[in-house]
Amino acid sequence: MPGPYKRKKYHFGDTHLKKRWRTKRRKKDLDEINEDLKPEKAAQLLDQEVDLDKPGDAQFYCLHCARYFIDETAMNDHFRTKVHKRRMKALETEPYTIEESEKAAGHGSFVPAKKRKMETQQPLSEEPPP
Ligand SMILES: [Zn+2]
Repeated sequence: MPGPYKRKKYHFGDTHLKKRWRTKRRKKDLDEINEDLKPEKAAQLLDQEVDLDKPGDAQFYCLHCARYFIDETAMNDHFRTKVHKRRMKALETEPYTIEESEKAAGHGSFVPAKKRKMETQQPLSEEPPP
């Protein structure tokens, strides 16, 4: 009969199995981010109200990765990372409807038609006036 010592942690290393189902740190899907890249939505996300529950009070947000950063340095560092560049690439080839591209055509830098050119958002301090 197994005594109290039978209570071993057989699933101790199984974090990879659980992670997939975790919702706390669930990242946005690419198609959600796609939505966020529309100029109106993007503007909102880049100019959020101070939210003390979010890292950096929600003032430093990478649109393409749907991530918050604690300060401008962290964010600008992130723009130079592999994760970010890979994401930009993924978003460039995301399927895209004609209506959307027409809608976006008049609205500046984010989305030219068909194959989009992704641009990293401007660092906050250098943001051009709307
Ligand atoms: Zn990013």
